[in-house]
Amino acid sequence: MKINCLSCGHKVEVDDAYDDYAGQIKCYACHAIMEIKSEDGKLKSVKLAWSVDRQADAEK
Ligand SMILES: [Zn+2]
Repeated sequence: MKINCLSCGHKVEVDDAYDDYAGQIKCYACHAIMEIKSEDGKLKSVKLAWSVDRQADAEK
């Protein structure tokens, strides 16, 4: 299954263990953390839990 990173658009490849999964995955490209929920190999929901951009804002 591939998940489009909401932060940078990178396609994050996850294995079969994530076909039925609720939790966080990490984008290898930008290190954003996404909260995903999947069922039967289909993505039900994905939202950004943490992004590099957001952390940069917090440090201002
Ligand atoms: Zn990313």
